[in-house]
Amino acid sequence: MSRTENPVLTPQVLVVGAGSAGTAAAIAAAETGADTLLVEASGHVGGTLARQLLEHSAGFHDAAGNQVTGGVGQRIVTLLQEYGGSPGHIPDDVSYTATRTPVNHSELSMCEAVLLRRAGVHLLLNTVVVDVETAAGTGGNEGGGTGTTVTAVVAEIPGRGRTTIRPGIVVDCSGDAVVFALAGASFQTDRADATQPGSLLLKLGGVDYAPLLKYAADNPDDLRPDSRIGAAGDDHANLWGFGKLLARGHADGRLSWRRTEMHLAAWPSRGEAVLNLTRTAVEPGASHGDAYLKLAQQVMETVAWFREYVPGGRLAYLAEVADRVGVRESRRIRGVVTLTEDDVKQGRRSAQSVGQGAFPIDVHDANSAGLSHTDGLASAYDIPYGILVGAEHDNLLAAGRCVSSTHEANGSARITATCFATGEAAGTAAALAVLDGVAPRLLDVGELQARLRQRGVIGAR
Ligand SMILES: Cc1cc2nc3c(=O)[nH]c(=O)nc-3n(C[C@H](O)[C@H](O)[C@H](O)COP(=O)(O)OP(=O)(O)OC[C@H]3O[C@@H](n4cnc5c(N)ncnc54)[C@H](O)[C@@H]3O)c2cc1C
Repeated sequence: MSRTENPVLTPQVLVVGAGSAGTAAAIAAAETGADTLLVEASGHVGGTLARQLLEHSAGFHDAAGNQVTGGVGQRIVTLLQEYGGSPGHIPDDVSYTATRTPVNHSELSMCEAVLLRRAGVHLLLNTVVVDVETAAGTGGNEGGGTGTTVTAVVAEIPGRGRTTIRPGIVVDCSGDAVVFALAGASFQTDRADATQPGSLLLKLGGVDYAPLLKYAADNPDDLRPDSRIGAAGDDHANLWGFGKLLARGHADGRLSWRRTEMHLAAWPSRGEAVLNLTRTAVEPGASHGDAYLKLAQQVMETVAWFREYVPGGRLAYLAEVADRVGVRESRRIRGVVTLTEDDVKQGRRSAQSVGQGAFPIDVHDANSAGLSHTDGLASAYDIPYGILVGAEHDNLLAAGRCVSSTHEANGSARITATCFATGEAAGTAAALAVLDGVAPRLLDVGELQARLRQRGVIGAR
């Protein structure tokens, strides 16, 4: 049977992936005046932040409490607050960062859709990018171009056939740098064997918080130092620990994998808890079927352990589980600039800054039982424009967790506030480049920074 051939689409800017970065990129590109198409493989917008049930966007402030992410990221939080889906930025209970930003993940997803519609973005859902066509230029590398462009992106709606998209510029916000991979790009290989593990987060309902918080108050040695415990009527709490209860479950054979700490994002007044505990190694860009089956086993063991071992857990039930394996780290592109651990730790300034990041370097190890290895940052670092610009193709930009960064630097840049920031910068750059008729690498960065400042982006000097 032949496939259906759909009409060829010719947007000025194509954004692939509607997660944090892709949503911000598409809104920014459309608002800058480009005809913008957003293509998403799943049936919804929001990506990992919404569908992994994180319930916390993080990274909006530096350690001193100065805001570092504004623009679209802040507009999403503000709209969510107006609808009552977030309290906004609140102090972090364990001072891991200055603030955390609780969000209801479904309402977040809806608010992002509202802003996409207001911006005039065209959206294709359930549409998977499966191929690209490239062309070598005719000596078009004067002024720094490589001469290789992506001339078409092929997307497929299963059962409805393929659609050819011929965009001016592509912004790859797929998390896995899918467009770069299909275009034959090479990737960062600084720590090829050290990719962060994947997880399936789960939400419990029916948690009785009075006994749970009493346990936390009576066992300060089983929680991170200086944890704010709060009361059963509180709206939010953020608890890290429960290592003693985990050890008992492990010793009794109830938990087949070893963990020494759990992150429990609590909504006490609702009796809900999001647990970050499961963990397995994942391969960048793979289908993750095996990982999902392993993590599903861990999810069910977690629920049973919680009922039996955690005070207040007896009537807990699995209310929701993430709809995909949560990927912390995947392919990282090779850009014209690479963000390094030193840049991040030194709070390095860049004349080509298009935003800022400040989240600690947060690296989880697939082979250790602890929650993570973290390095706090004294101050914010600049996001140089070049980490968004592909080094090997003339019309490819990237944003989100796949930006050009080393393994360690990515441990900070992957956080959602920073993904909003890189998305907004890449989307604005793509629109300006296509409207000015130049390759992204030849864009007047001063003009881009001025636009970003007008948009409320912080740190675009
Ligand atoms: C378990 C876990 C816990 C985390 N905890 C936190 C936290 O508490 N706070 C925080 O701020 N961050 C947290 N992070 C990090 C953060 O969630 C991610 O790094 C960030 O959401 C990545 O955003 P993104 O836009 O780059 O990618 P994503 O949000 O993953 O979006 C990529 C989108 O591209 C789509 N896509 C992929 N391939 C294709 C294709 N071929 N065609 C079309 N579409 C495609 C996907 O369906 C997806 O919607 C966590 C991550 C994980 C995995």
